[in-house]
Amino acid sequence: MSDPRDLSFSRWLTPLTERVLGGGAITRDDALRMLEASGAEQFELFAAANRVRAAFQGADVHLCSIINAKSGRCSEDCGFCSQSAHFASPIPDYQLVDGDEVVRHAEAAKERGSQAFGIVAAWKGLKKGKQLDEVLDRIRAAASVEGVHADASLGLIEDPEIAAMLKDAGLHTYNHNLETSRAHFGSICGTHSYDDRITTLKLLKAAGVNTCSGGIFGMGEAAADRVDLAFELAELDVDVIPMNFLNPMEGTPLEDAPLLAPMDALKTISMFRFVNPTKEIMVAGGREVTLRDLQPLMFVAGASATMAGSYLTSSGRRTADDWQMIRDLDLEYREPGQPRPPNEAAMLGHAPEEADEPGAIRRGVRFPVLNRAEL
Ligand code: SF4
Repeated sequence: MSDPRDLSFSRWLTPLTERVLGGGAITRDDALRMLEASGAEQFELFAAANRVRAAFQGADVHLCSIINAKSGRCSEDCGFCSQSAHFASPIPDYQLVDGDEVVRHAEAAKERGSQAFGIVAAWKGLKKGKQLDEVLDRIRAAASVEGVHADASLGLIEDPEIAAMLKDAGLHTYNHNLETSRAHFGSICGTHSYDDRITTLKLLKAAGVNTCSGGIFGMGEAAADRVDLAFELAELDVDVIPMNFLNPMEGTPLEDAPLLAPMDALKTISMFRFVNPTKEIMVAGGREVTLRDLQPLMFVAGASATMAGSYLTSSGRRTADDWQMIRDLDLEYREPGQPRPPNEAAMLGHAPEEADEPGAIRRGVRFPVLNRAEL
């Protein structure tokens, strides 16, 4: 196999982009070269990733919101996480919120224009009994709010029956991040394994639940680790890939880790777009502190979604500012509940999915009017 570095960046990237647009794949070496781009090459890479995003995702941006439904005192020792009981981070500590609170947050997510609303809990995983009964009740509560998907991130699941029960309760998508590469995972977490995480994703997928899995970048990983994660997620065929950038939390082992350089973060987004061209790539936690004024470039670099509102233990920015950013880029809002645009299927040579009703896929839909001063 020839080395992608034998050609100039442009001569290498142009046919590679055409290949991906035609349904082909890139190699690990190609992905590594993307992360090595420097100077003007970086903007060539973003422009190419933007073509791939536009081809497979259209101009629509997907928003997602979450509730930290159970905070703190987690038994696990994930080195980035302020909710671990192993570290002394100053964060709120509370048990699972009730169904009314879930509904209130799901309604707020809808007001923000989010298509997806995720119930997130800080614990190792989900077992049958009172814990599962309460979780099923909260998922039913979220699913009762029309216009947003009821999603969840509830840790490790080892029992296929639990996965089926979550689906029956109305769960649309289950998030469980791999966080980093298999090789780097051991230096981030010692209380459970990479394979535990993969098993969870496979169980949920087998139960017919959409899967959402990504990682956190800036945890001391090498470029090859980022590439490995991108390919691992492609292999797992997850539906949504959240990309977080470490926002170091006080009290955690990574509290002094330097922030990733904004251009490194953007190149990583582009590389993920090339490795997972048809997937929803969602830039989530840490975008404000890592990308700073370059936040709009996350969509140009290949992202098709972002998180609106607050994160688990840190604040996001005003949703109105995100809406303005999307409008200013001349991108469009995918109305909650609407299917993915038909571009993906068309590009892959399949018939576009039938919309539920004529005109169900609407372009250029504007954001709802804010009915709260601060969202
Ligand atoms: S990332 Fe999840 S499993 Fe790990 S410590 Fe935080 S809450 Fe627990």
